[in-house]
Amino acid sequence: MKLISDPKKFTAMAAKAKQLKKSIGFVPTMGALHAGHFSLVKRARRENDIVIVSIFVNPTQFGPGEDLKKYPRCLKKDADSCRKLGVDFIFLPDKDNMYPKGYSTFVNVEVLSGLLCGLRRPGHFRGVATVVAKLLNIVQPDTLYLGQKDAQQAVIISRMVKDLNFPVKVKVMPIVRQKDGLALSSRNAYLNEKERSSALVLSKALRLAEAMVSCGQRNAGRIISRMRQLIENNKQAKIDYIAIVDQEELREVKKIKPGSLIALAVTIGKNRLIDNTVIDYN
Ligand code: AMP
Repeated sequence: MKLISDPKKFTAMAAKAKQLKKSIGFVPTMGALHAGHFSLVKRARRENDIVIVSIFVNPTQFGPGEDLKKYPRCLKKDADSCRKLGVDFIFLPDKDNMYPKGYSTFVNVEVLSGLLCGLRRPGHFRGVATVVAKLLNIVQPDTLYLGQKDAQQAVIISRMVKDLNFPVKVKVMPIVRQKDGLALSSRNAYLNEKERSSALVLSKALRLAEAMVSCGQRNAGRIISRMRQLIENNKQAKIDYIAIVDQEELREVKKIKPGSLIALAVTIGKNRLIDNTVIDYN
């Protein structure tokens, strides 16, 4: 496994792999890797000749007052995990070679970036789309692996890939959870014991919604209000949003259909957590 920081060197390596007709699977991350990331890497390993993981805590997707400085960083551990999973290359740029002096180009996926999490985090998805566009140009993968955990991000990146004709296939992998239901996230490291237990309200609310749907409830408003009640029973939890939307446009739906996305963001203490589920029934 090789670690490369220089984007130019990385692109040269990718071009060589292309010449040799090797397929490239790419997993972009911000590090502090966990089983959620590993599921993407394992899938990429199964499906490609070359697996590339990027680790970059991208400053342009953090707003003022967000956790850019304290975001967990543990490169050695991450590199060990990647080695064990059979990753071929880690791309490890720094902010100066991704955004050198004079950098002025940004990608904004209109409308979608302003909904749901975009309302609370203006500029976040502009930063995400920009860095992913740059990474796709540098890494030149055949397949990009993303997690359903960040459902809105997956919708926005898929839209960008389509709109800007990036020659890459996007695959979105299911959410990996802990046994008790908590969706894995690098930010879970911020939670103390009590917050960790309160954080279960997110997955519990989603399970409640799924149970209501399986009992025949199709009214989105009723489902949201029961989810709201459940979460508001927890003193530590503050709801940012609960939304039931279609997966393409992220527009609110009144009536649940197969494929409807139930997404929520809840602050526990100082930690804003997100989770979601896609409704599936026939
Ligand atoms: P991050 O390092 O948080 O930027 O995440 C990198 C990639 O891993 C993104 O595509 C995430 O959606 C994905 N990911 C993060 N957590 C999980 C999880 N619990 N299950 C599946 N994928 C995840």
